[in-house]
Amino acid sequence: MIDRLCVIGVGLIGGSLAMGLRRAGYCRHVVGVGRNPDNLATALARGLIDEASHDIGASVSAADMIVIAAPVGATRQVVEQFAGRLKPDAVFTDVGSVKGSVVRQVEAALGGLPANFVPGHPIAGTENSGAAAAVADLYRGRRVLLTPLAETDPEAVARVEAMWRAVGAEVEQMPVERHDRILAATSHLPHMLAFGLVDSLARQEASEEIFRYAAGGFRDFTRIASSDPVMWRDICLHNRDALLLAMANYQADLDELKKAIEQGDEAALETIFSRAKKARDGFVH
Ligand code: NAP
Repeated sequence: MIDRLCVIGVGLIGGSLAMGLRRAGYCRHVVGVGRNPDNLATALARGLIDEASHDIGASVSAADMIVIAAPVGATRQVVEQFAGRLKPDAVFTDVGSVKGSVVRQVEAALGGLPANFVPGHPIAGTENSGAAAAVADLYRGRRVLLTPLAETDPEAVARVEAMWRAVGAEVEQMPVERHDRILAATSHLPHMLAFGLVDSLARQEASEEIFRYAAGGFRDFTRIASSDPVMWRDICLHNRDALLLAMANYQADLDELKKAIEQGDEAALETIFSRAKKARDGFVH
């Protein structure tokens, strides 16, 4: 059980965690930290947090558990305000979609990697953002990946694991580099495809007509293009190398598909589609 939880960035991810932990009776007091007064007012009104603050330094100094849930690119600037402020037994973690960059930013902010820092990433979310989008059961049955470092205290890892289990998540551990490579392929690349496709079609002359006749498949495929642009700007730039590699692999496979169409290669097309169908059916079921 957490006595005082501090959530920095009370949006979809941080707000949902706070809400789930409060519902589970797992924390006594939640302080939400943010810059936007309207978002914090929404968080208070919806009962996600007990107290709102604009002051990171003051809020972390009384907390037992601190969760950084702001966009990845803000990590260094947030953590710089922790220096010399945390209680000796406080633990801090994050929810960023990229782990290597977050670790480097924490190291740069504090001049080293502290034993009480546990990098984390819940594999859950929606295309909506802000405290208004938070839902208490967002993490139920979903995976949370923790990427502890050589410096990380196992006791700190155990406390972060217990927090995520309290909201119904399954917790796994993996190395930072593996996390960033896998997520580049399974999450970051699909977001690039969705954003890229919708943008490309929207800029075509007949875009209104194209969207008017778009059916369910188009809606399913492009749902994630409604995600927050600032968050995705940061994810691309902070997982640059792994994402560029995933994009290059995909581009090569797309060229193969294009070639099969150009050459009228029925067998190649059937092979590609059958392989994809089998893989997706297996993954979904
Ligand atoms: P969100 O709903 O937009 O919430 C982010 C919150 O961070 C906002 O409420 C904002 O509050 C605060 N914030 C924004 N910029 C900041 C800055 N420069 N400094 C300090 N605070 C800032 O976004 P989210 O979807 O919860 O994403 C938060 C984190 O979770 C990101 O790192 C993302 O990579 C990760 N994540 C997202 C998903 C997803 O599906 N959405 C899934 C897994 C992980 P104020 O404007 O009031 O400061």
